[in-house]
Amino acid sequence: MIRLKKPLLSLICLALIVLTGCGEKQEKPETPNEPAKLNELEELNEWRKLPEANFAIPPYARYLDGIKICLDPGHGGQAHLLNYKRGPTGLREAEVNLHVALYLREFLKEAGAIVFMTRTDDSFVSITDRSKLANKNAVDFFISLHHNFFSNPETNYTSTWYHQDADDSRASLDLGRYVQQSVADALRLPQFTPTGLYSDRLIIPSGFGVLRQTKGPAILVEASFYSNPEEEQRLKKESYNKREAYGYFIGIARYVAAGFPKGILLTPAPESSIETKKPRIEIRVEDGVHERGAWMLKRQQVFSNSIRVKLDGVIVPHQYLHAKNLIVITPSKPLSNGVHRVETDLVNYYGNHSLPSEQWFKVVPPAAKLKLHAWTKTLPPDGASYVGITATALDKNGRPIADDEPIHAQTSIGRLAATESLSQNGEARFYLHTDATQPQSGRARVKVAYKNKSETITIRFEKISSGIVQGSVHDVSGNTITDAAVQLVTKKNRTTTNPDGHFFFDNVSPGEVTLNVSKAGYYNLRLETNATSNSAQVLQPQLHPIADGTLIGKVFVLDARYGGSERGTPVINSVAPADLNLAVVKALKEMLELAGASVHLVREKDEKIPVPKRVKAINAIKHDGYYLRIDHGARVKGEPSVIATGYPGNQVAENYLKAILDGFNITLFKTPVETFGDEESPEIRSTNKIALALEIRSINHPHLHESANSPALIAQEAYAIFLGTWKFLKNAQLFEEELNSDTRDEVLLQKELEIHVVDGISRKPIAGARVALDHTFPLVTNRTGKATFHGVHARRYRVAVEAAGYAYRSIESDFPDSGSVSIKIKESVKQ
Ligand SMILES: [Zn+2]
Repeated sequence: MIRLKKPLLSLICLALIVLTGCGEKQEKPETPNEPAKLNELEELNEWRKLPEANFAIPPYARYLDGIKICLDPGHGGQAHLLNYKRGPTGLREAEVNLHVALYLREFLKEAGAIVFMTRTDDSFVSITDRSKLANKNAVDFFISLHHNFFSNPETNYTSTWYHQDADDSRASLDLGRYVQQSVADALRLPQFTPTGLYSDRLIIPSGFGVLRQTKGPAILVEASFYSNPEEEQRLKKESYNKREAYGYFIGIARYVAAGFPKGILLTPAPESSIETKKPRIEIRVEDGVHERGAWMLKRQQVFSNSIRVKLDGVIVPHQYLHAKNLIVITPSKPLSNGVHRVETDLVNYYGNHSLPSEQWFKVVPPAAKLKLHAWTKTLPPDGASYVGITATALDKNGRPIADDEPIHAQTSIGRLAATESLSQNGEARFYLHTDATQPQSGRARVKVAYKNKSETITIRFEKISSGIVQGSVHDVSGNTITDAAVQLVTKKNRTTTNPDGHFFFDNVSPGEVTLNVSKAGYYNLRLETNATSNSAQVLQPQLHPIADGTLIGKVFVLDARYGGSERGTPVINSVAPADLNLAVVKALKEMLELAGASVHLVREKDEKIPVPKRVKAINAIKHDGYYLRIDHGARVKGEPSVIATGYPGNQVAENYLKAILDGFNITLFKTPVETFGDEESPEIRSTNKIALALEIRSINHPHLHESANSPALIAQEAYAIFLGTWKFLKNAQLFEEELNSDTRDEVLLQKELEIHVVDGISRKPIAGARVALDHTFPLVTNRTGKATFHGVHARRYRVAVEAAGYAYRSIESDFPDSGSVSIKIKESVKQ
């Protein structure tokens, strides 16, 4: 059990400086700052007097000549929203961002830079389009200009944001450092942040969309706070906007003047194909300054210990030949077939990192062997059926040829969906259709060729006595789904969809057939169709995602606290936290996996695992994700029903915890949406995941009328966490799409599907019944016999109900587009 300390909230009141992202109503805890002493205040006041404006172009700005820069004035096109990113008297952030960006463009152009603007008027531009513009024009770097908002009107400082981990954003940080300092110098705001540079993952787990999607160095600057009434007045003045723009300009000019070192691939020639698997790789070093015509040393001015060469993303040993300014790499093992990427990182004497620039060459041996395989050798000439043909090309060592090599096919009769297919793992797939306009019998000779190697396979178009059931599986947006399990119930046959989403059953006896289609992350689908002899039923089943597909591919590490001789406290009526923790974790794992997430358990059974061992196990999972520790306790009067703790100051964890607490309020019992900082647990403080802990105080909870270990309660706790997880991730995704908060609420406000399970004779509610939507996602009814599914879409559903002592029951029904739905399942057969 956690001893309650000060909630995180009190930290915010104490602090001088509060971080916030881009006007979002997300209150950030922060690094507490020493209050300024009196003489420091005087100094600050002296500093705060803005010098007379001087917008001269300094001589070092000449190096901006020809540099391509993308300026991104944040937001725009939302003037119709009254409360959207506005200062106390209504000044819009979008407008200020634009003014500053337009002035900055003038300065940069005067110095010879090529400037791209994501917008030049008050129109709406999506985050993705902003990044696309920068990427399409291959700009050297990208700057998103913003102003900040916070609930405390006194808050006002400059901050600069980079993407994710600093190690992966080194060039962005070079730019960020110069810009942060010169914008802060230009505005001279009353507050400063201890570091000024922040990772965007503090606000959103995957970072700001605009920074993530932009290739090359990219920063987002929050120059000042328009929520500060005095700052808002200043921001209204064009002269002040110009002053800010000049601050940006000086920072950018100094950054560019420091030069961009680079490693240039000499051999193998960039983008060339070679046959040898053991090439000598040579890279020329340039410091980015010499080329301007330095009179100094011939040697390139880069720190030799800063050189880092990655071959296919992995740092490889290299030799640096100083005198020749050359890096040499000799691969220790033969390289695999395919593309190899070379990336050189280095730092010049000015401290600038090389801009990310990947170069590549390709190892392409000829094919020694070409094998063809078809789903069937015989197709009915019905104009509907089609057969997949897989070509496998191997080199002389029996290894798959390089990826993305074009393999070609042609046929004597019938129609090929495509005649060129790119190799993946040595395989290329072709689809031969019987001709819809001119069904004809005969032999289709399909010839497949890669370079000089070719093979032929013959498919007969002729009458067959049985039927074919085939097709492709899609999601609701029309994307094909690979690796979905497709079961032909009547034939007890199973297959999985191929990389193009296709499935194929032949030799199907004529008559009714049932197909079951399933894939983690989607509701199961059952389809009925008729197989007829000498023809193919071509189906296109569509799968609906669970929880909007938001959890597909996400990674969770769930930790049931205690275990073995450690039982947790309190143990009441032999109900121990250790067991409840494991039960909830298992129920949650099932839900998350059904929704398509990948879930790891720190403990799967009742055993004692020391905390250091737990931390080690969590950190062994390298994938980014979330760590969630579950504990139980007894209700303490005057304290919340769920104690939610995270690393103090981790905004992502705090948002996630709040969403989970909301989940509890929706499904189970009232608890304040309040989080606490965990100062002690190594699981929270030293894991490589976004780490959170919950203590669910369900043991002897006065508002719960069932034992804490009842299956219904366990399932509802798990569902509360599931719901919170979904809402948190969905919100982060919508935030990224830059939907304003009203729209976000609308998207999240989905239909609820409420199922009541009652005894058909006594009409009494049945608690603990397992209700599965589409035979897939199960909930357990509470003591009022109710199970509520959230975030469902209008369509036809099947609901299966299982309850101890009752016969299994399944119903099918349509649910309308709006409002909640209540179904009473009367069960009269008591066994
Ligand atoms: Zn903004």
